[in-house]
Amino acid sequence: MDGWILKSVIVNIFIKKNMRKKIVAGNWKMNNDLSETETFLAELKEQVFPEDVELIVAPGFPNLYHSFQSVREHPVVIAAQNMHQAEKGAYTGEVSAGMLTSVGITTVILGHSERRAYFGETNELLAEKVNTARKNDMTVIFCVGEELADRKENTHFKLVENQLSESLFHLEEADWKNIVIAYEPVWAIGTGETATPEQAQEMHRFIREKIAARYSTELASGVSVLYGGSVNPGNAGELFAKEDVDGGLVGGAALKVDSFMAIANSF
Ligand code: PEP
Repeated sequence: MDGWILKSVIVNIFIKKNMRKKIVAGNWKMNNDLSETETFLAELKEQVFPEDVELIVAPGFPNLYHSFQSVREHPVVIAAQNMHQAEKGAYTGEVSAGMLTSVGITTVILGHSERRAYFGETNELLAEKVNTARKNDMTVIFCVGEELADRKENTHFKLVENQLSESLFHLEEADWKNIVIAYEPVWAIGTGETATPEQAQEMHRFIREKIAARYSTELASGVSVLYGGSVNPGNAGELFAKEDVDGGLVGGAALKVDSFMAIANSF
């Protein structure tokens, strides 16, 4: 490749990557009670925040309001880990978008593999949840990712493509300003086994290409695609350095402020 062509390709990649929001989101799952949440947030508020990285923390439902109030003067977004697809009604034990927004929560994680595996959430159901979230003007962190068997059978690209197309590709272009994708290979979640930076990049590029084919290259290049699956302070840097990796959705390593902040400072 000619020197100047190579240079312009590199500059182009740099510009596109920097157009997108860098995000580090902590998914606490069913961990941290009120006092643990308070301790974490008190420590978090003392940190120096990287200017160009959005920090998101997703505590359990009972602690959302308190968490939101606690960090409202700080550049930290508090997110929910799930919500119901109906606006309201007789759904004992469920939480609606309206309930979340009424306590200041405007970001929700949908489609996490644990929700898919343990609570039977299908692509179709998730499309309904996404619609409800968008109707309520919420930002969605939408998780996709394959099981180990899919990767071994080489069906992982098709599976992720279906997750995207069946749950998200009916959305209007304008909705995509509030959609973040998290690629989380199920075999890497909570296992200590991380996808290599090359495996992550390959899937992230694939995801961006599919969004570009359905919408446009311009739209696709503005969508943040996070990697999730055993991200820690030791591996975040090489993952985040990849062209199409815009940050991480982090489980275990987001439970302690020092490791969460070390990851946030890994770009
Ligand atoms: C997750 O739960 O989304 C996750 C990626 O967990 P961990 O970082 O612990 O693998």
